[in-house]
Amino acid sequence: MSESEARPTNFIRQIIDADLASGKHTSVHTRFPPEPNGYLHIGHAKSICLNFGIAQDYQGQCNLRFDDTNPEKEDIEYVESIKNDVNWLGFEWSGEICYSSNYFDNLYGFAIELITKGLAYVDELSPEQMREYRGTLTEPGKHSPYRDRSVEENLALFDKMKNGEVEEGKMCLRAKIDMASPFMVMRDPVIYRVRFATHHQTGDKWCIYPMYDFTHCISDALEGITHSICTLEFMDNRRLYDWVLENITIDCQPHQYEFSRLNLEYTVMSKRKLNQLVTENLVSGWNDPRMPTISGLRRRGFTSASIREFCKRIGVTKQDNTIEMSSLESCIRDDLNENAPRAMAVLDPVKVVIENFDGEAEILNVANHPNKPEMGTREVPFTRELFIEREDFREEANKKYKRLVLGKEVRLRGAYVIKAERIEKDEEGNITTIFCSYDNETLGQNPADGRKVKGVIHWVSAQVGIPAEIRLYDRLFTVPNPGAADDFVSVINPESLTTMQGVVEPSLVEAEAEKAFQFERMGYFCADSKDSTTDSLVFNRTVGLRDTWAKIGD
Ligand code: ATP
Ligand code: MG
Repeated sequence: MSESEARPTNFIRQIIDADLASGKHTSVHTRFPPEPNGYLHIGHAKSICLNFGIAQDYQGQCNLRFDDTNPEKEDIEYVESIKNDVNWLGFEWSGEICYSSNYFDNLYGFAIELITKGLAYVDELSPEQMREYRGTLTEPGKHSPYRDRSVEENLALFDKMKNGEVEEGKMCLRAKIDMASPFMVMRDPVIYRVRFATHHQTGDKWCIYPMYDFTHCISDALEGITHSICTLEFMDNRRLYDWVLENITIDCQPHQYEFSRLNLEYTVMSKRKLNQLVTENLVSGWNDPRMPTISGLRRRGFTSASIREFCKRIGVTKQDNTIEMSSLESCIRDDLNENAPRAMAVLDPVKVVIENFDGEAEILNVANHPNKPEMGTREVPFTRELFIEREDFREEANKKYKRLVLGKEVRLRGAYVIKAERIEKDEEGNITTIFCSYDNETLGQNPADGRKVKGVIHWVSAQVGIPAEIRLYDRLFTVPNPGAADDFVSVINPESLTTMQGVVEPSLVEAEAEKAFQFERMGYFCADSKDSTTDSLVFNRTVGLRDTWAKIGD
């Protein structure tokens, strides 16, 4: 396992330890509350590992709850993908899936309770007026002229809203809190609005929908959540979270804790922006291997263990920060270096003919991992005609170049020492064939006469190798913080995908999608899981052997 065994510690776990020690709680119940309006990304993985990880380590529970109060933006496709991604990351939610929409009846009841207590009112200011009345950070807001309606009138109007007798935007329900509060969220926040939209769970039952801040705390309380963990931008909203729960009749008071969200260099994490990349066909879909989504990383060849390890390494704090892409990459590299079987593929082939080899293919047994004999061996056919990497041959070179040079020798990985005797070129001067001889005494041993052969290169049989399309990925954006650009689409890297027509060893025809191999000397690759545009084998490069953010080379 590349996953480190030690339990993480962070300020939230310290709070939980203290709550358990003091008897404030006897068990822990967390939740992961995505809005089903996009696919999950690596930032969500941080929250998933935190919430589900706590439940695992404290023998507690963690709910998966869809925070589904925006019917227009949500879709069942996202619900399904989120469930799938959470499971793939290695987590199980407790009991049934939860939906905030399951609580629409309760939420409606609590809204009535607030109205009855004189703590909520139906407002008729237009959205523009409402903004004007709200004031600014330096100026208090003004009371709406509708703020002091009677309880009866509010109940009657709220009923009309519920019954579909009010147009969208004409009325809303607001909590009556404090228009002079230094916290803008406390200036009579809207808690219900009219939306004539069909909901993916409740259909056309409702035409009023509760707002996030009202829904979230009540959903947490109804589910008996003990520690409600969210990201820092909700810090001010904690006032409203507590206010709602203090003013309704409910016997559970979860506490909200905030941590800093994950930002990664050279990518965007906002679902709105990711959605735009997909809908404008700037990538091939939510699971394009260049996307920071869980499904994209998975298709790229990341293992779930490597993502969990990444989340462990970055930790959980209250400091805003941006993580380098290389930290994510080093997690997958550590995993695959240890666990990925080796194979050979030539990405940019040039033909080699072994002139003194005749007869049929010779089947060689090659180790699947240099340090792990328990991973076994595979059969690799050695034939008269082979492919090597074009960049692995030079007509002339100095001593630093430890590959094949005209007139010199090199070892073929897992096979023999060969010597380049002569070459053939086309009219443009491109090398078409390298004619070689091989020393048939050198399988698994050095030349008998003590000749030193330093270099080792990879190869694939030209006769039985399998053509494959090989996709190399670079960062999706050209700047470290594309989200800060005026137009993030303008900083997309036009060279984020390079497609090569390569050849892979025959054993790879069986390669399972998403299961990574180390292609000797070329990096880690996995068979693509989904591409109907081509019949040929497709491999995605997960990550280079060293740092792919540096220039690809030696
Ligand atoms: P967006 O604002 O882009 O739509 P979101 O953060 O609102 O995204 P949600 O579906 O509401 O997306 O997120 C579900 C949970 O995941 C929330 O608790 C949220 O705080 C957490 N989360 C989202 N993005 C990140 C991130 N980059 N790092 C850590 N946690 C995150
Ligand atoms: Mg959200």
